[in-house]
Amino acid sequence: MEADLEPRLLEARRERFFVRSQVKVLRRYRDRQEAAGRPTTESDVRLADLERELRRLDETVEGLRARLGRPHRSVPGPASRLRVMTTHEASCSCGQLRLAAQGDPVRISMCHCYACQRRTGSAFAIQARFPAERVRIEGRHTAYERVSDDGEERTFRFCPDCGATVFYTTGDRPELIAVPVGTLADRDFPPPTVSVWEERMHPWVGLPEGMEHHP
Ligand SMILES: [Zn+2]
Ligand SMILES: [Zn+2]
Repeated sequence: MEADLEPRLLEARRERFFVRSQVKVLRRYRDRQEAAGRPTTESDVRLADLERELRRLDETVEGLRARLGRPHRSVPGPASRLRVMTTHEASCSCGQLRLAAQGDPVRISMCHCYACQRRTGSAFAIQARFPAERVRIEGRHTAYERVSDDGEERTFRFCPDCGATVFYTTGDRPELIAVPVGTLADRDFPPPTVSVWEERMHPWVGLPEGMEHHP
């Protein structure tokens, strides 16, 4: 028997728990919208996407259980004909703290300031911002608040077990959630379009063309 089946089953079940809780939250929201006579098209699309993901995870879990000699129940979800909307999934290093953002980010930026360099331990920070209502968070997190030189507060949320920052908010745009792009571990994620604090940029850093530049 393959030695990694057990951890893969654990991971798939953890993932399924996360997706299932998102489905529950979104279903409640969708039903409230419908009861209030508001449109539910966007919620329906997101629900269809999540339910498809849930079915895929059900199959994965069942498949792994069968290979471990522990077949269990199968929970088929309702069939769907709707279009897929991208879900971006972020995670800390240990996987305890996870985040899912639906749809495209409203801004992807990089910052070369020293505070960002210290926070990330890297030459620059890169983050994508999503409207808070399209973001679901699962897991424990601890806050670290920092006030910038301009007096703007930012609250970084990190996993208390492994220390990785998975999201943060800023005082000036509380409706947005910033997600460090590295936590998405996705090489197909779009490049940044804005670069700030370039006076502190490491001289060897190359930037994509057509970016907005700020000193
Ligand atoms: Zn962690
Ligand atoms: Zn910065």
